[in-house]
Amino acid sequence: MKISGQLTVDDLPRIAPLLCRATNPRYGEDQTRIVEVCGVRFGNGRPVVIGGPCAVENHDQTLAVAHAVKRAGADMLRGGAYKPRTSPHDFQGTGVEGLCILRIAREETGLPIVTEVMDTRLVEQVAEYADMIQIGSRNMQNYTLLAEVARTGRPVLLKRGMAASLCEWLGAAEYIAKQGNLNIVLCERGIKAFAAGEYSRYVLDLNVIPAVLANTFLPVIVDPSHATGVASMVEPASRASLEFGAHGLMIEVADFATGRPRCDADQAINGETLARIAKFARHHHERLMFSHQAV
Ligand code: PEP
Ligand code: MN
Repeated sequence: MKISGQLTVDDLPRIAPLLCRATNPRYGEDQTRIVEVCGVRFGNGRPVVIGGPCAVENHDQTLAVAHAVKRAGADMLRGGAYKPRTSPHDFQGTGVEGLCILRIAREETGLPIVTEVMDTRLVEQVAEYADMIQIGSRNMQNYTLLAEVARTGRPVLLKRGMAASLCEWLGAAEYIAKQGNLNIVLCERGIKAFAAGEYSRYVLDLNVIPAVLANTFLPVIVDPSHATGVASMVEPASRASLEFGAHGLMIEVADFATGRPRCDADQAINGETLARIAKFARHHHERLMFSHQAV
């Protein structure tokens, strides 16, 4: 017996007809719809590397990290001006001041910006500063927010809810698509499972990557920082994600010389590690091109 409301990928043509492969045969079995953000192209084969601080704390910290990200050869800058924190007593981000700092970082480095919005009332404000708008894990099913963000016309980075199934994730993406905005990049960021803080923060669900690729034409990237919560795991998790077919990575970076980050310090890597990951990503792509040519 199938309980009503219980979903499987067979339900995707009904849940997400605008985005699933089965109802969009022009994408065939393996074509990806390229999403472009200021010249950075997600889904064209070359993995996109996004780096930056967890939170935009102040000018010097953000600019130091932004320049390190640029030097590492990454493609885009991340950083939360508005932070979803477990406790309301914790640092909540720097808001519009943080957005202004991100704008300066973009001017200085030329890196496009992705930053999160959590509140429908702030969508217009964030859209003014962001080249790509991030919907965080906690808001993946905030359907009003999804629609509002979609209507800005900005490309959207949709993180997977930490306990969301593939169908729920693609159903959420469909809310964005329904507003006429197909510029959506999915981001796996780890799910709730047994690890529960014993040896990692979340569980990186590598297995979902080929499932995403099989079921939708949207690009998908991985955030190995939140998925593991442990800086030493970020580099191997990045490599594994690319081996599983991810179209890119979003990684938290810190410049410890300007101080310890106020959030997620344990998972932040430095610029040199990011440079190694970016190099691996470039070579991974070249290796794949070579092996395709060789066939
Ligand atoms: C983030 O990327 O800044 C973030 C808060 O991650 P998540 O929404 O996946 O927890
Ligand atoms: Mn973080």
